[in-house]
Amino acid sequence: MKEERYDVVVVGAGPAGSITAKKAAEHGLDVLLIERNQEIGVPVKCAEGVSKEIERFIPFDKRWVCAEVKGANIYAPDGTKVVLTEDKMKEVGYVLERRLFDKALAGEAARAGADVRVKTEAYGLIKENGYAKGVSVRSMDETERIYADVVVGADGVESNVGRWAGINTRLRPSGIEVCAEFLMCNVDIDKEHSEFFLSSEIAPKGYAWVFPKGEDRANVGVGICGDASSEQHRAIDYLRAFVRSKFPDGKILAEMYGAVPVCGVIKESVADGLVLVGDAAWHVNPLTGGGILYAMYAGEIAGEVIAKAVQENDVSKKRLAEYDTRWRRNFGKRLDMGLKAKEFCFKLSDKDLNTLAHSLAGVKIQKLTTEALLLELVKRNPKMLFGLAKMLL
Ligand SMILES: Cc1cc2nc3c(=O)[nH]c(=O)nc-3n(C[C@H](O)[C@H](O)[C@H](O)COP(=O)(O)OP(=O)(O)OC[C@H]3O[C@@H](n4cnc5c(N)ncnc54)[C@H](O)[C@@H]3O)c2cc1C
Repeated sequence: MKEERYDVVVVGAGPAGSITAKKAAEHGLDVLLIERNQEIGVPVKCAEGVSKEIERFIPFDKRWVCAEVKGANIYAPDGTKVVLTEDKMKEVGYVLERRLFDKALAGEAARAGADVRVKTEAYGLIKENGYAKGVSVRSMDETERIYADVVVGADGVESNVGRWAGINTRLRPSGIEVCAEFLMCNVDIDKEHSEFFLSSEIAPKGYAWVFPKGEDRANVGVGICGDASSEQHRAIDYLRAFVRSKFPDGKILAEMYGAVPVCGVIKESVADGLVLVGDAAWHVNPLTGGGILYAMYAGEIAGEVIAKAVQENDVSKKRLAEYDTRWRRNFGKRLDMGLKAKEFCFKLSDKDLNTLAHSLAGVKIQKLTTEALLLELVKRNPKMLFGLAKMLL
């Protein structure tokens, strides 16, 4: 069997993998980034909404942006609309074209010196003396062993790499949001706001979304908690019902299914010779299901720490734990709070949600963040949200 050697092999060319590869290559390491699909960024499994904070990671190109969003409309079960806008326009966001964006990120990794290979799937971990030492890969009909000092599992929500290394990445149904999404055209949408619909009828333990993608196009999706899904009550069933009532004249241009880990912080994200980043390490806000930015933060930290560890010739779990500590310090608290807020919100009835929406009538929330919204709600409904207040304050 053919064999090759790199300092680092990164499995998965989503945002987490590409940023990790870019950073490690920038620090002078020999990096290989592999992707099982034939085209990076395809198929898209994302609603593609992200805050402008994303601009800090790479020189940003407006060609990756389908729509610039000035705020969010949130609809309570009785249709009451809460509008979130920000006067200073700091944290409002973009709806990306991820098939372009993900490719551009992988291109950045390549320009920094990483080798990139598509249609190359990792199917096993090479281990020696308890250390990850590389991956076995399949490319077309050929198999190969790729040796590396550090293996990076950036292989998304279905991550196998972590499991192969003995890290518990198993997700319980209550820890997954299962999603169905249509890219639609001919839909009458608010072009400047992302929209969220809350109701146990529309999306139990979840929400429906409409993210504008320019002109008459939008990503229209439903995400429900895994333990709310059953035969006849799958995310796709809720999505079809939502689309029938909201966009009867809409046309479906693409259809996709996916899942998001929404279970809070993972216990461990490193092993001897191995690091997990992005969805593979559950780097997603459990309340919103957003993970693009966290994947990129984690990738930056991972690339830096891996570079130092390889250069020091110590890729032990103990040395790589610097990555684990730094991402927890950076955004672990936000994930933790997101989980608590999600669990609290799941207990609210449709009637409670209506009451909360009414309490915000006429209020302008200054910051377009979930934290700002929750704080405002707590301020207006201290008795009802006493439990949530204890978590947030
Ligand atoms: C329906 C839906 C809507 C979402 N909407 C949003 C949103 O609006 N905003 C937001 O911030 N987040 C959103 N997310 C979450 C977001 O998509 C993820 O958090 C983000 O893509 C994580 O990036 P990643 O690089 O960790 O994983 P991914 O983007 O999933 O990339 C993993 C890559 O690894 C590859 N791979 C897997 N196994 C192997 C293997 N064995 N060998 C080689 N390659 C492999 C995969 O093909 C894939 O390309 C959404 C998710 C879903 C499912």
